[in-house]
Amino acid sequence: MRKKIVAGNWKMNTTVAEGIQLTKEILLETNRIPKGVDLVIAPPFTHLFPVSRLLENQKAVSLAAQNCAEEPGGAFTGEVSATMLASVPCEYVIVGHSERRTYYQENDRVLLSKINQVLANGMSLIFCVGERLEDREKDMHFQVVASQLREVICPLDPADYQRVIIAYEPVWAIGTGKTASADQAQEMHEFIRSFLAQTFAEAAQVTPILYGGSCKPSNAKELFSCPDIDGGLIGGASLTADDFLAIASSFA
Ligand code: PEP
Repeated sequence: MRKKIVAGNWKMNTTVAEGIQLTKEILLETNRIPKGVDLVIAPPFTHLFPVSRLLENQKAVSLAAQNCAEEPGGAFTGEVSATMLASVPCEYVIVGHSERRTYYQENDRVLLSKINQVLANGMSLIFCVGERLEDREKDMHFQVVASQLREVICPLDPADYQRVIIAYEPVWAIGTGKTASADQAQEMHEFIRSFLAQTFAEAAQVTPILYGGSCKPSNAKELFSCPDIDGGLIGGASLTADDFLAIASSFA
């Protein structure tokens, strides 16, 4: 039985007060969420500690960071280490988001260092993969995603792989209002699962693979009914408690 997860990536949105308010609104309504669905929220760094206090003594919502440093600590002004995030405590870290790959030139080497930091500090990973529009137009989408996994996830120790969640986020669908069709998403999720199974055998059968890219209440049901889609990584729609909870309630 695979875990169902709906994770909200707040990106660089909300003040601390707004983030606290949003968290409280989500917590008030977690009874709407079907049993067996885990919620994760990823606020900005500044919000993590106060939000973590609100999440104490409950299990419905877990905390994620959106990024971490590739170095363990020291003279790296402005960076936040995985050790610091684990001390909040955060349970997950998002690594490999296309905005970080594009705007901050995070390549496979950097991503692997970050992943090693996350895992060494006992947290789990939400690792994002996905092709650009030009890759899909050239029919290269499977090759691009395979390469992202081969370079960064396949080198992991099989014991650590238990703490990996994959998010398939076609870059052309992120924040654009264009969603991959359920068929396109399912086809890629199935590909990812069988690709990972070549390295991690049966473990890949239980890896949660989330879909991300303009997922909203109106399309979540169709996406989440696909056999290899185990939930979503939600950007824009996670900034409204009602939409986020509606998406998380969209499992059949
Ligand atoms: C994301 O940033 O991970 C994302 C999926 O964004 P959106 O839902 O806004 O497309």
